[in-house]
Amino acid sequence: MTADRRPKHAAVARRARRAFHYIWASPATAIGLSIGVVALCLGAKARIVDGVVEIGGGRRAAPDSPRRRIPFDAITFGHVILGRDPVCLAHLRAHEHVHVRQYERWGALFFAAYAVASGIEALRGRNPYWWNRFEREARAKAAQRSG
Ligand SMILES: [Zn+2]
Repeated sequence: MTADRRPKHAAVARRARRAFHYIWASPATAIGLSIGVVALCLGAKARIVDGVVEIGGGRRAAPDSPRRRIPFDAITFGHVILGRDPVCLAHLRAHEHVHVRQYERWGALFFAAYAVASGIEALRGRNPYWWNRFEREARAKAAQRSG
């Protein structure tokens, strides 16, 4: 192999790894897209940011609706981030993109891994969301990017 071919090989390897990440995370992405299609029918808008589909906005729940009690502003399924509105999506982008990387690592196993991590924290008597290792990683890495 000559030295001038090496960058080409690296680029091919990078693209192959990228393709594998999309395929590996695709079961979770399919769930996100299924929910996203419903949101789009209710007026949400979609855009692609750094290879990730972001869907948010649309018809807002009435003030007394139980939907107002949904305890998150954004949630990630593979390469799809569902957000309450574009402001939430922008504010939480760095955090949610860490979750995208977690799906790329774990694939569909991420659902089980996340549940086990929450269960461990609950057994320790701690908040299963706040202390979940995947949430702690997302907060730490998002803070590094913004600071
Ligand atoms: Zn999170």
